[in-house]
Amino acid sequence: MLQTDICIIGAGPAGATTSLFLSKMQIPHIIVDASVFPRDKICGDALDLKVMRILNCLENDFVKNEILHNHNFSKTYGVKINISENKKPLLQYKPKPNEHQFPYFFFSKRRYFDNFLAERIPSKYATFLQGTKVEKIEHTEEGKIIYTNNVKEANKIKAKLIVGADGDHSVVLRSLGERSVNREHYAGGLRQYWKGIEGISSEDNFLELYLPKSLPLAYLWIFPLPNGEANVGCGLLSSLIQKNNVNLKNLLQDIITKDPVLAYRFRNAVPLEKPMGWGLPMATLKRKASGNGWLLTGDAASLINPLTGEGIGPGMMSGYIAAHFIQRAVKQNNFSEKLFKNYDREINRRLEKSITNFNLIKKVSPLIYNFFINVVAPHPLCRLYFQRNVGKWIKTAYDNKPIKIKFD
Ligand SMILES: Cc1cc2nc3c(=O)[nH]c(=O)nc-3n(C[C@H](O)[C@H](O)[C@H](O)COP(=O)(O)OP(=O)(O)OC[C@H]3O[C@@H](n4cnc5c(N)ncnc54)[C@H](O)[C@@H]3O)c2cc1C
Repeated sequence: MLQTDICIIGAGPAGATTSLFLSKMQIPHIIVDASVFPRDKICGDALDLKVMRILNCLENDFVKNEILHNHNFSKTYGVKINISENKKPLLQYKPKPNEHQFPYFFFSKRRYFDNFLAERIPSKYATFLQGTKVEKIEHTEEGKIIYTNNVKEANKIKAKLIVGADGDHSVVLRSLGERSVNREHYAGGLRQYWKGIEGISSEDNFLELYLPKSLPLAYLWIFPLPNGEANVGCGLLSSLIQKNNVNLKNLLQDIITKDPVLAYRFRNAVPLEKPMGWGLPMATLKRKASGNGWLLTGDAASLINPLTGEGIGPGMMSGYIAAHFIQRAVKQNNFSEKLFKNYDREINRRLEKSITNFNLIKKVSPLIYNFFINVVAPHPLCRLYFQRNVGKWIKTAYDNKPIKIKFD
């Protein structure tokens, strides 16, 4: 049996971030993942400013040195909504030639991005076991006993603290008796890679969204990837999928074949795979994410931003916060619930605004929703507001300043 103070289960963005920061703090730990990297993950592949901010906390100018000119990442300086109506972009941030050239979003296939993080995990402080699926966890007085399928290296691991970073189908959640789906706080999503969609390979790549008027809160995205490829997908809250009897595959197919503007843009495009689905556990749930000898991060903690569908940034942020709470627990050799008292508040704090807005939008009638999306948001005053804010957000993401955590 392997023994460790800390065992991270899952090495996606949330688990990898926890491990990278623990290594930076010189805290020994084990991290296991069922997959062998590189591996795929169904996702929109959009990396927001939170991701960049955390990577710059790991190492000053990380994004500038490792990502900005990396050909496995594409970038966008703007967002377009209502893409079938050819309106002006909702926001467009164009750095002047003498300014830094950091974008608003990067895009990278998860097969690449997750491996890019995973490759950096092995260290003097991190034992990284890939192809090691956790099958069962026992919570005992003496600690956690983790049973895996890796008979050779780590069939059994004993840890004082486990970090559940094992995504939506978390075995850690199951061991706590908490894995269930609440459709009001869960969305379904589809991804399909395409090549050759017209209008995405130009200099002015946009993050493009299509919000069907007949189905409020549903959205289709086209995200530009390197090599002329694109990540195309759609998503909707599960309770609305059920209520409106929506088949996401048909929705995607209908929009790209029947909307006149999109059908034109897709006419010579080639799908590179069948549409593939996965769930999005959303932050509106406010799942309990800490307890005696355990913490949850990322999708296991249900942290996806309900307004945007972004989970990588919140997942990495929770990994960063988890590492800091763990640092304090290690110093005191105390892994009890008391030490993690404010962990849940800290991982949710930055999502509060989105949760409030989402809950508000959910309550309004489709008429008001469509008025807001199609008339208010594209209004020049609103665009000016977004434009101003995005400049501030970009500055914060790239200024290399540490992210503050409130422990008390
Ligand atoms: C269709 C779709 C589109 C999305 N688009 C975006 C987007 O564009 N941008 C964005 O920010 N977010 C997006 N998301 C959300 C994003 O994919 C997730 O929030 C993110 O992957 C969460 O990261 P994580 O590290 O918590 O979990 P994951 O990325 O799921 O990683 C979990 C890891 O745990 C491992 N694991 C699981 N079970 C076990 C086990 N029993 N033992 C050991 N290891 C285990 C897995 O192999 C995996 O490597 C999208 C989601 C979907 C479904």
